[in-house]
Amino acid sequence: SQPAPMLELKELVVSYGAVRALDKVSFTVEEASVCVVIGANGAGKSTLMKAISGLVPVAAGEILLEGRPIQNMSAERRVNLGIALSPEGRRLFPELTVRENLLMGAYLRRDQVEVTVDLERIYGYFPRLLEREKSQARHLSGGEQQMCAIGRALMSQPRLLLLDEPSLGLAPAVILEVIRAIRQISQDGTTIVLVEQNARLALKLSNHAVVLETGRLSLAGDSKDILNNPQIAAAYLGRA
Ligand code: ATP
Repeated sequence: SQPAPMLELKELVVSYGAVRALDKVSFTVEEASVCVVIGANGAGKSTLMKAISGLVPVAAGEILLEGRPIQNMSAERRVNLGIALSPEGRRLFPELTVRENLLMGAYLRRDQVEVTVDLERIYGYFPRLLEREKSQARHLSGGEQQMCAIGRALMSQPRLLLLDEPSLGLAPAVILEVIRAIRQISQDGTTIVLVEQNARLALKLSNHAVVLETGRLSLAGDSKDILNNPQIAAAYLGRA
């Protein structure tokens, strides 16, 4: 029989009081793929990431991780099952060093030797973080903060990595550096769901794309097909 997909959303509904932020959103993410979530401000992208990681309650529908319903589990339990979020705005501990921030991502782990190995692996993805290892997070540039936030998420050894706007506010050269690392992380076998404002960039980076419009899924498909379809490209990507 077919293995269950890494992630499956079924008719997911999330509300903030009277605001329905997600309205029956359904899609599937296959293991080892990169799925990008595109949409305007307020479309529900961050809410989607929070719902998957357990930071906002689900009003209806299901979230399946490798076939297993997780929508009623705590965020901590989901980390243990292999989901990690690098949140929008990064949320590092400003007074802690880069290394200490990274180790915070491993706080649920008991395998200290392997934690050190993973730290080295993250410095491999982001050599800049090794150079800044002893700096307090508050002294980092925006790009370095982003790298540190992604690294911290990786320290829980996720099978599913959620990245909320990793390129937000970064200079083009730094964006390329972050993208190169995301590609590498994906090639090493981690499944990735990524929120990205820059649709063209996002489609080049991903295998699969979903478009949210005011809480509803308006398009889902292979990133290549979307990039190569002139009508869709015009509607979602604007002018080249
Ligand atoms: P952005 O790119 O601006 O972060 P987004 O696509 O991530 O946008 P969300 O942040 O998920 O969108 O917001 C979706 C909708 O839910 C918006 O209408 C927003 O105003 C509303 N919303 C988000 N968080 C809350 C909250 N804590 N309380 C009330 N409404 C909220």
